Amino acid sequence: MSDVVVIGAGLAGCEAALQLAKEGFSVDLYEMRPHKMTGAHSTQNPAEFVCSNSLGSLDVTNASGLLKKEMEILGSFLIKVAKDASVPAGNALAIDREFFSQRVNELLNSFDGKINFIREEITKIPSDIPVIVASGPLTSDELAEDIRVFTGSEHLHFFDAIAPIVEKDSINFEKAFYASRYDKGEASYINCPMNKDEYEKFYEILTNAPKIELKEFEKNSKDRAKFFESCLPIEVLASRGKDTLRFGPMKPVGLVDKRTGVENYAVVQLRQDDKAATMYNLVGFQTNLKWGSQKELLHSIPGLENANILRYGVMHRNTFINSPQLLDASLQCRKRKNLFFAGQITGTEGYTESIASGMLAGINMARYLKNQELLILPKITMLGALTQYITDIEQKHFQPINSNWGIVEELVVDKKIRKNKKLKNEMLSKRSIEFLEKNF
Ligand SMILES: Cc1cc2nc3c(=O)[nH]c(=O)nc-3n(C[C@H](O)[C@H](O)[C@H](O)COP(=O)(O)OP(=O)(O)OC[C@H]3O[C@@H](n4cnc5c(N)ncnc54)[C@H](O)[C@@H]3O)c2cc1C
Repeated sequence: MSDVVVIGAGLAGCEAALQLAKEGFSVDLYEMRPHKMTGAHSTQNPAEFVCSNSLGSLDVTNASGLLKKEMEILGSFLIKVAKDASVPAGNALAIDREFFSQRVNELLNSFDGKINFIREEITKIPSDIPVIVASGPLTSDELAEDIRVFTGSEHLHFFDAIAPIVEKDSINFEKAFYASRYDKGEASYINCPMNKDEYEKFYEILTNAPKIELKEFEKNSKDRAKFFESCLPIEVLASRGKDTLRFGPMKPVGLVDKRTGVENYAVVQLRQDDKAATMYNLVGFQTNLKWGSQKELLHSIPGLENANILRYGVMHRNTFINSPQLLDASLQCRKRKNLFFAGQITGTEGYTESIASGMLAGINMARYLKNQELLILPKITMLGALTQYITDIEQKHFQPINSNWGIVEELVVDKKIRKNKKLKNEMLSKRSIEFLEKNF
């Protein structure tokens, strides 16, 4: 028997297992794929990125960028792998998914057999061994039901959607052009420009297109409206008004086609998805439209008239527990001390955040097994602020959250500085990095 069971070889589970192996503990890492697939994963790879291939900004004065820097200081394995697997994406950290998963797999095998990778679905939380539950937003139904019974809480969930990917060679570069917004960093995005008529035609197709019916369990009208605000399907954004997209994912400002010198009415951006630069995903185009409609919509975009669609967008349920009632800021379960939760199921929303909570759960399970004090980071760090936010017992209407500056402890400085956003973020970032570098 191993020292710890980790359920789910996703982003959080792989990071947690590696942290435990580094500390000398043996781990049974259970993954149900490929025997049982989720609605969003398409491979049997560990640590698969299900939608976009971007982990967000690397700039430490950005909330997500600071979180990555903190994870580097604290020794995250997957952030290091992500840097090795990176593809050009301006200031952001975007990865080649296949390469990334392959490197994670190599790492899982590199701890003298400490990590036993078992392809099997877990349907109940094992009661006789320390466990980290990292089964993600698409936790299988039986395990989700067991978690619901164990936690005694009503099931919480909302909806997420995935954006389509197209083949680069099928893009028409007589219309599309490379540029990054305001020429910042490399010109690594492909941009498909639209004039007013083209945008209006696109908008009409989008707003008239049929959507895929949600499954029975997802049909409840109260639930249907529950989308995560920063991952809204494009058709939901469009329904908010004709120009919403032009001020959102299709914002044209700062994207000039150097051949014409024109700033367009709207622009669809595509981001590199693999190291070989053969695949590009449509930025902010997560959707639940029927596949036929997606094809019609994408082919109406100038430059994508003949685009070969390699993956269509889909939408899924996203499961999370009531962390404020169930967990401490160490991610330890309040009512069962040898049980930790990690990843998106805790309500930390996003790839980087999922890896971060996997790292913390792994570190703390190792500390628990060694009878050491558990690591609870202060709110001056982004990771501390995140974990303290999701486990704050005072919270009444808990909803998943990304890293953001609003949850970090305020600076004790005069009003003038607090109002200068750039300076304030620089100071907040410096404060966290200095603290972590001094203590870890
Ligand atoms: C549809 C969708 C799109 C998303 N898009 C983005 C995005 O573009 N950007 C972003 O930052 N975040 C996105 N997220 C949010 C989140 O960052 C990812 O879901 C991320 O993969 C979560 O990491 P995780 O480790 O918690 O879960 P996962 O990476 O999903 O890992 C959980 C693993 O557990 C396995 N598993 C589930 N149940 C069992 C079981 N009973 N037994 C054994 N194994 C099991 C699953 O197969 C999976 O491999 C998206 C989420 C969803 C659902």
